[in-house]
Amino acid sequence: MTRTSQLLTHANGPSLDPHASSQRAAEWQSENPVPLQKNLWRLTAPNPSVMTGPGTNSYVVGSVDLGFFVIDPGPADASHQQRLFDVTQGQIRGILCTHSHPDHSPGARPLQALCEQAGKAKPVILGLPSAATARPDSRFTPERVLAEGEILSLSSHFSLKALHTPGHAANHVCLVLLEDGVLFSGDHILNGSTTVIDGPDGHMGDYLDSLDRLDAACVAHDINYILPAHGHVLNNARDAIAHLKNHRLQREAKVLAAMQALPEGEPQDWVALAYDDTPPGLWPIALRSLLAHAQRIRELGLV
Ligand SMILES: [Zn+2]
Repeated sequence: MTRTSQLLTHANGPSLDPHASSQRAAEWQSENPVPLQKNLWRLTAPNPSVMTGPGTNSYVVGSVDLGFFVIDPGPADASHQQRLFDVTQGQIRGILCTHSHPDHSPGARPLQALCEQAGKAKPVILGLPSAATARPDSRFTPERVLAEGEILSLSSHFSLKALHTPGHAANHVCLVLLEDGVLFSGDHILNGSTTVIDGPDGHMGDYLDSLDRLDAACVAHDINYILPAHGHVLNNARDAIAHLKNHRLQREAKVLAAMQALPEGEPQDWVALAYDDTPPGLWPIALRSLLAHAQRIRELGLV
């Protein structure tokens, strides 16, 4: 039995294994934190939508004695931030934002303010500053920038390593809980939906490069579980990453074929060919991914 599976299997407790629950649908509620293992909870914000799936997952790591890290405080939603405060009893050391999109980072300052108002220590807001390419609703400036490879620790029990992973957003960062072999993937890897790559802040070449780096991190840190910002836990982390990359490259091959078949065509023409397996109603959304693939194809000099 590996170190990871020992940690993730509790006699009567919950398990990170997504198949361990026979009531998966019942899990999607925002009122209560869902314990994933000892010292790790998921609290889903009440913002379900086409783009956010069941809602944004906030993750809480730590203990009342040692303090907590909150990963992705979510949209500014007073009820959600209050629940994050309650589950941590306000003992938050760091609020970490995987990226600046409006369903991830705006909850940071309200959560920090709750801690201060309660007379608790002021947690530091961590992440990467949004790039100049970020949309107006996705601007974010952390109080402290997470350096590549930096390790944040609560005593010697909980260590989060930051990995810069541009692609979905230029300021995206993933986090590895080193003791447990768990990857917090933000929006770089999702479960149940496809990561949007929307230029210019999103970039397909960077996205695929970051996937490779995450795969290397899985090997280096014995990672088995991926905890995405939207959707359930993914197990078999390396298989999930390989599947994702394969899927992207297969789609890119179809985009390339469409560009070669209609070299004078517009992206709207290519989408009908490259997404002929997708209902036309989804083509306007698919067009954004197509543009990201087309950019990478041009950057690689393939057309
Ligand atoms: Zn996002």
